[in-house]
Amino acid sequence: MCFSPLTLIAVLLLLVTPLFLPPSSFYLSLGNYIAFGALVALGLYLLTGLSGMTSFGQAAFMGLAGYTSALLCIGLGWNPWLTLPLGVGAAMAGAVVLGGITTRLKGHYLPLSTIAWCIALYILMGSWIELTGGHTGLRGVPPVTLFGWSLNDSKSYFYLSWVFVLLGAWAAWNLTQSRSGRAMRASKGDALAAASFGVNPAVLKLQVFVLSALYAGVAGWLYVHYQKFINPTPFSLEASIKYLIAAVAGGVGSIPGVILGSGLVTGLEEALKGILPQIFGRTGNYEIIAYGLILVLILMFAPKGLWPFLERYLPRPQPQTPKGTGLPSRPIQGGAGEVVLEVENLTKRFGGLLAVNGLSFQLRRGEILALIGPNGAGKSTCFNMITSVYAPSAGSVRFKGQPIQGRTPYEVHRLGIARTFQHPHLFPEMTVLENAALGTYARTRRGLLASMLGLSRREEEAALAEAYRALERVGLAHLAHHKADGLAIGQLRLLEIARALASGPEVLLLDEPAAGLRAGEKRQFAALIRQLVNEGMTVLLVDHDMDLVMGLVDRVVVMHYGEKLAEGTPREVQRNTRVIEAYLGEAA
Ligand code: ADP
Ligand code: MG
Repeated sequence: MCFSPLTLIAVLLLLVTPLFLPPSSFYLSLGNYIAFGALVALGLYLLTGLSGMTSFGQAAFMGLAGYTSALLCIGLGWNPWLTLPLGVGAAMAGAVVLGGITTRLKGHYLPLSTIAWCIALYILMGSWIELTGGHTGLRGVPPVTLFGWSLNDSKSYFYLSWVFVLLGAWAAWNLTQSRSGRAMRASKGDALAAASFGVNPAVLKLQVFVLSALYAGVAGWLYVHYQKFINPTPFSLEASIKYLIAAVAGGVGSIPGVILGSGLVTGLEEALKGILPQIFGRTGNYEIIAYGLILVLILMFAPKGLWPFLERYLPRPQPQTPKGTGLPSRPIQGGAGEVVLEVENLTKRFGGLLAVNGLSFQLRRGEILALIGPNGAGKSTCFNMITSVYAPSAGSVRFKGQPIQGRTPYEVHRLGIARTFQHPHLFPEMTVLENAALGTYARTRRGLLASMLGLSRREEEAALAEAYRALERVGLAHLAHHKADGLAIGQLRLLEIARALASGPEVLLLDEPAAGLRAGEKRQFAALIRQLVNEGMTVLLVDHDMDLVMGLVDRVVVMHYGEKLAEGTPREVQRNTRVIEAYLGEAA
């Protein structure tokens, strides 16, 4: 891994500065609180920045870890290093339970529910007096010791806290550069697309939720063993809001951003504690008003936070062109001509409308089959039933003899079926290469934890090489490092094909892939499809360009008002009078 020189300078400054300060310096104490906040905010980077979920409850996870650790240390005399995994485990267990119930909630319901359980846990911590000492709190939380040396002063604790922050940032950075990080960014924007390349968005969301609780749990443990005292105040809803504001203000979409945000908000809190009572003429919790104002101002003038603002002036690393041979290819079993995909009596009703009505056809290995018909004939609906985006109202879909209707879209993809959408579902904020690499998700294995520990690098290199090869095949390699949002519609379609190819599918479903391509691009596209089929792929294609379709495919199924009108070779359907009447005549 290569760290940028700027990162190294920042880390060096962090390590050297305390040497010039007295051990109980106010600035070192501030530095500790910034570190606790930075850890919580790193969890929010994963949760909000990468995965698009919002939590107002992170302080509650700090509390779960903090109380677990404090109670075990005080009650049973255990060492804080022993209670660290137990405390963090308690926070993560809490996240499994709460997240299991709430991460499925859509829209504003997830953030609202986090508010509810943050308040509930806070009340519990305050009112279970026999256990927690209530709001008076508990004294006698032991300090952390290291090789017999007690980390009692702010300076030694500063190093401990920041080692955790740096480890946490390193793990979050590793995760960002992995298949899981890409999948998180994808399911944030478009769960339907993410599922189409093998991501199980519900499981991923829960995993990230639990991860964010891990970060908050470590922060909670550090917090209580620094204060050597515990009461519910640092774990309130107000504290949670402060962490969220810190992350958003600094830039929740980046790692330096959330750390910077913690520094800003913690520093500002200290400053305001002195200034605000002078303005208002009496003491009180006026900071929360200031936070609100700050957040509004930042969202108005720098909606992505401060870091993206500063980042523009920093040198950017040159993107590397991926090298290597890519991923091992999927062995293709079975002979040419056998039935791979079979739909039988497939029917879809939308209210009173029969979008697809009793459709049956077979797709044989190694062929190119076109599904054609006028707009609204039911072609895309048929694709959506094959890939389980829609459940059929009746009928069946079989892949290599096994019924697959009723499975989830990501399961269908993992069987070896890749698709494109009539309206491309891509991720404008990601580069062309990253978009293509999403296709490798189901071919790669490394989990979240392995990725965080930096163990997925070799697999990641192969995945990027595979994605780059797919881009070369569709003619987009020269744009690999561009953001996808600048592409023309034809290029977006090619990029979706590259993403599908990167998954190494047995069957490729293409919904109007050539719409928007120029004549030359269409010829290249046809050549690519022929080459893929020569390599053993099977293709089901929807398109309106009859010259392209009739010159490319082996067989055609014609649909009209949801039903099959005709089936045969291009020649046969072109001569079929019903087809000419219903579709081809009209198209001509
Ligand atoms: P095609 O792809 O052949 O142009 P579609 O499969 O998109 O046609 O649509 C077939 C019919 O089903 C159309 O009348 C369309 O309006 C309707 N339809 C498609 N998707 C939905 C949906 N999600 N809800 C309701 N109606 C739909
Ligand atoms: Mg369609």
